[in-house]
Amino acid sequence: MIRGTTIVDARGERSGDVLIRDGRIVEAGDVHSATDEPVLAANGRYLTPGLIDCHIHLCHQSGPDPRVITGKTDVRLAIEAAEAARRTVRAGVTTARDCGGRGFVETALRDAIRTGVVEGPRLVTSGHPIMRRGGHMSYYGRQIDGPEDARLAAREQIAGGVDWLKVVATGGVTTPNVDPRRAELTEEEIRSVVEEGSKAGRPVAAHAHGGEGIRNSLAAGVRSIEHGTYADDDMIRFMVEHGVFLVPTLIATRAMIDAGTAKGVPEYAVRKAAEVDGERRKAFSACVARGVKIAMGTDAGTPFNPHGENAREFELMVEAGMTPSQALDASTVAAAKLLGLERDVGLVEPGFVADLLLLSANPIDDPTSYRRNLEVVVRSGTVIRD
Ligand SMILES: [Zn+2]
Repeated sequence: MIRGTTIVDARGERSGDVLIRDGRIVEAGDVHSATDEPVLAANGRYLTPGLIDCHIHLCHQSGPDPRVITGKTDVRLAIEAAEAARRTVRAGVTTARDCGGRGFVETALRDAIRTGVVEGPRLVTSGHPIMRRGGHMSYYGRQIDGPEDARLAAREQIAGGVDWLKVVATGGVTTPNVDPRRAELTEEEIRSVVEEGSKAGRPVAAHAHGGEGIRNSLAAGVRSIEHGTYADDDMIRFMVEHGVFLVPTLIATRAMIDAGTAKGVPEYAVRKAAEVDGERRKAFSACVARGVKIAMGTDAGTPFNPHGENAREFELMVEAGMTPSQALDASTVAAAKLLGLERDVGLVEPGFVADLLLLSANPIDDPTSYRRNLEVVVRSGTVIRD
């Protein structure tokens, strides 16, 4: 039982108590019963749903150059990923989507968390990112040549036990000799992945900066656009009409720019981050204004964007034009919807999983509250940090 709290979720604010049984919320409001329950006295502190981060990379550890992964064994990745998962949930992220790892390490970790072997957020995973030969992130993903190979790559990920598929539709920032503005996969290649995914009930997320890559991804039927830097009016209209989500990951380029070459980020990465950063924020605010569904995601694991500092994205979304209430929706209800978990997580309501955070300041009044004022984390009804 959590006594005397102010509930703050995407449906608004109300004061009351929350009764939890078997990991789920059974009552929220004026709870009179259950006097023998263990009580956590909230003393007026703010109770919100756990955050949902729709874009992390548990196999990457936020060093200056992600290509360091090529020198590590899968066993090493697994040890590091387990520690990253622990930091993530202790920072208030109780559910996350991993958007690309190696050796199905992140998928094995998902299962280990589920069975209680390791502490971490509830995970959905996408296995190896699928890209064209020599494309962005090809140093650890599944490189494909043509639509039939793309189909095979999708089947391999599904056989590996993933929940989602991830395609790399354009170049990106952290790989040398690729251009974020240029398309890398064809529409046909992405469509093969979408078709294989839909047969198995696995939606597809597309890394896409440039316009042609976004267009290819939308035409092929992906469920979410990651980054979305050069989304124009037509693409935005399509996303609204078809319910395609944007996962903005604003923190990723900001972190690389702030660290710079002085901290060892490769020159090409800093330069490309600077080129796309302003464009991304413009596209983000256009998407917000036009009513695109937006789900919070950080790209945690990329350079100087460490696991456990995910809540910084909440502040950047507000800085780039969302109201704190919109940012709360993007970080809870909308994110849950993207992941197909909207009946389980994202609200403080009876029937929902008790993934809850207790904050000493209201995040609607102070967007830094998730980072500065997080005092208790409850995951599936169990206090894991207080
Ligand atoms: Zn990513």
